Amino acid sequence: MQGRELSPFEARASTRAEQSEGPRAQGAARRLVVGPHRCKSRFCPHCAMPLGLQLRERLRRVLRTFKSVMMLTLTVDPALFPEGPQAAFDFCRERRSVALLVQGLKRRGVLLSGRWASIVEWQQNGYPHWHLIVEADYVPFAALASEWGKNWDESRWGPRPAAGIGQRAVFGSVRFTKTFDAESSEYAANYITKYITKPPKAGYPAWVLDYAASGGRGRRIRRFSTARGFWGGEPSPRINEEATGETREWCTIRERVARCGITSVVFRVEDVVDTETGEVAEEARYLGRVHKTYPELLNALGESARVGGFRRHYCTPAQERVVWGLLYAPDRVESQHDLDQPRAP
Ligand SMILES: [Zn+2]
Repeated sequence: MQGRELSPFEARASTRAEQSEGPRAQGAARRLVVGPHRCKSRFCPHCAMPLGLQLRERLRRVLRTFKSVMMLTLTVDPALFPEGPQAAFDFCRERRSVALLVQGLKRRGVLLSGRWASIVEWQQNGYPHWHLIVEADYVPFAALASEWGKNWDESRWGPRPAAGIGQRAVFGSVRFTKTFDAESSEYAANYITKYITKPPKAGYPAWVLDYAASGGRGRRIRRFSTARGFWGGEPSPRINEEATGETREWCTIRERVARCGITSVVFRVEDVVDTETGEVAEEARYLGRVHKTYPELLNALGESARVGGFRRHYCTPAQERVVWGLLYAPDRVESQHDLDQPRAP
């Protein structure tokens, strides 16, 4: 039980599985738990893997409800964007090219539903391409090429050329990887999250890390997108930001990732008994952050430091006193108003 690879942020969401027996269930009612403050960015070398695995699990559950899954790959012709890869990305983002493609295919009646999920990837040259999964058993190539070709902007590139030749649409290339039946939902989930769990060897293009939409502070790039309603009844693993000590202040991906792990978070967990089932679950409450990296904090607690990872640490009573002291330290990053707990002696 100890040692589940889970962010402390997910502590609340994880509670159920953690339980029933085991030392903590019978132990003290309240314990302090510490962990690294993770940035939870899909672009982060520490966070991408655990977030990706979590996403894969959720995707598997949803894709099992698909009658048939098709995997499509969409690229952009770099020649159309001599200004550079960011121009290509901005163009597709503003146009909502991927969502419009799905809409067009749906209108043609070749999809079994409007459900889709996609991830954006970057080639070596920095130009984006998308992997997309849709619920369909067959999408004619001509329909796909024609819908992707609708991205052609005549005001930019002149009259739209005749239909593409072979695998080439006029705006970029379109491919479908294969059709799988519902049993292969696992394969499709892997397909879409394959790259999300591992950062590319050469890293992400600089413009992606420093991206600020429309020349200003705006939304960061999302690697993974879905149709509205894609998750259905799937519970969201997200916890509200206040509860996790996240700040809402906007920053670039590079800035966000740079802050990963430079502070540590403190939670108080409590064993809560479900009066109907008798099941004991842990409930976590965010208390604050301390100005130490996680290895530094573990050192201060006399624990062997584990670098990286999401593994949280349950404090002994002696360690709890140290942690309370750190939470009240003048250089603490922040702590919440509910620090009405016993003061460190
Ligand atoms: Zn991170």
